[in-house]
Amino acid sequence: MSAATTVFTGIGELVTGDPATGDGSPLGLVRDAAIVVEDGRVAWVGPARSAPSADAGVDLAGSAVVPGFVDSHSHLLFAGDRGAEFAARMSGRPYTAGGIASTVAATRAADDVTLEANVRRLVAEMARGGTTTFETKSGYGLTVADEARALAVGRLLTTETTFLGAHVVPPEFAERRDAYIDLVCGPMLQACAPQARWVDVFCDRGAFDEDETRTVLAAGSGLGLLPRLHGNQLGPGPGVRVAVDVGAASVDHCTHLSDDDVAALAGSPTVATLLPGAEFSTRAPYPDARRLLYAGAHVALATDCNPGSSYTTSMAFCIAVAVREMRMTPAEALLAATAGGARALRRDDVGVLRPGAEADLAVLDAPSYVHLAYRPGVPLVRQTWRAGRRIA
Ligand SMILES: [Zn+2]
Repeated sequence: MSAATTVFTGIGELVTGDPATGDGSPLGLVRDAAIVVEDGRVAWVGPARSAPSADAGVDLAGSAVVPGFVDSHSHLLFAGDRGAEFAARMSGRPYTAGGIASTVAATRAADDVTLEANVRRLVAEMARGGTTTFETKSGYGLTVADEARALAVGRLLTTETTFLGAHVVPPEFAERRDAYIDLVCGPMLQACAPQARWVDVFCDRGAFDEDETRTVLAAGSGLGLLPRLHGNQLGPGPGVRVAVDVGAASVDHCTHLSDDDVAALAGSPTVATLLPGAEFSTRAPYPDARRLLYAGAHVALATDCNPGSSYTTSMAFCIAVAVREMRMTPAEALLAATAGGARALRRDDVGVLRPGAEADLAVLDAPSYVHLAYRPGVPLVRQTWRAGRRIA
């Protein structure tokens, strides 16, 4: 006997993200649409008038529906709060990578229950905002035990966990950088690799240089982890070049790019993941999304949710900022926040609504996806479904 099927109807506007469906645009738009879900996956998608019958039905009363957001870059495994630092920054103090140390101290001091409760709170917030897939990183423990426990907590909530022992050099190693790199590449990676899919390095001024970055990525790759990178956030640097060179799935921030960086991204499968919440929250210039799009680079949008430089879980907020401040069209921004994020995680089963994909839906209290940017700051996500099950 086959599994029970559910048909979602009353979808005024459906964004499938599949150009082979609907209006033929990159959005794959279908009006008056229906989706049939079986076993947590999309079984059929198309105009409601042609929908096959199903065992159960959900009427969405004319809503717009988009694929659940794929937040391919977050730092949820922390404790503490940096509201005072934000207030100081908004009063004129610049952002530097060094602020991470205060979150490291708070995270080390937190017990496991506190750490897990904080992540669960943020993940619930993500679900209410329409996010159905997210990546998250260690990087606020910076000891073997603290990095490993952060990833163990992360693994409870997502398969997309990233080892970021090379986030900054912790204070106790300030005069012994080489010893810290040895620790990261040796015992720390040994302890963390079983709980991680990805290895990441903050390759930027005040963090890690090119040689250190290559050393850590190579050690992670040697243990089966896939590389991704923070690069070119605080200034020009080698991040993009290294990411493309090692075949990273994504290089994230991309705020300060040379012509060579843009050309390298355009000629590679490495995704340029833009994190406008960080520029917003540090009052910094935004990345030049149009330059990347014109060149033909793959672009994703993610929140970079972290307590220092971008304390938002809202993908809708990032879409609105990308449209208003980075001149992405509403369609480009939505695709970057769904299929783009999926590509940045090397996933083809999320971020798109086509037969076989996960039935991950964000149901909007709006007639069109355009309202995500047109109505900034408004909580438009009315329902969130992941794998055919309502999660918010
Ligand atoms: Zn980050």
